[in-house]
Amino acid sequence: MPPATQIVFGVGTPDSPLIFIGEAPGREEDLQGKPFVGRSGKLLDRILDALGSSREQLFITNIVKCRPPNNRRPLPQEIKASRSLLYDQIKIIRPKVICTLGSAALEGLLGRPVKITKERGEFIDWNGILVLPTYHPAFILRNPKELQTLAQDIELALEKAFQK
Ligand code: URA
Repeated sequence: MPPATQIVFGVGTPDSPLIFIGEAPGREEDLQGKPFVGRSGKLLDRILDALGSSREQLFITNIVKCRPPNNRRPLPQEIKASRSLLYDQIKIIRPKVICTLGSAALEGLLGRPVKITKERGEFIDWNGILVLPTYHPAFILRNPKELQTLAQDIELALEKAFQK
């Protein structure tokens, strides 16, 4: 498989109160230069649409900005290398809520090991920003029984972020 061809920075609106953070770009994301445009992204879009939202109103990015070879989980040094860019994005956007998708995203953001089944669905205060961990859409594609759980978590993140 060829190496990553470009940086996948993020998409959406820079004053969004909600940022979604995934793991790393896959093949399709690397080709298009946009996060979550493959099968996982289509599922995320369907959930957002069902909840009356869309990616254009939000900001979507990944912990790691370049596709790891063979879609493997990002290595600690790759997460470390991307972290300052991620933190800059968060500083500029200043979201009320961050919704992390999957364990790698939560671990990468918090810098500690996590157990996603234990931590999902509960807000964590991280430097004054509410972080809501949930499952990665790719996990739901493999475990469709958990679709409602992911949709409910995303609904909660949207409600909290857009609450007046
Ligand atoms: N999975 C991710 O974690 N991020 C993407 O951008 C696409 C798939």
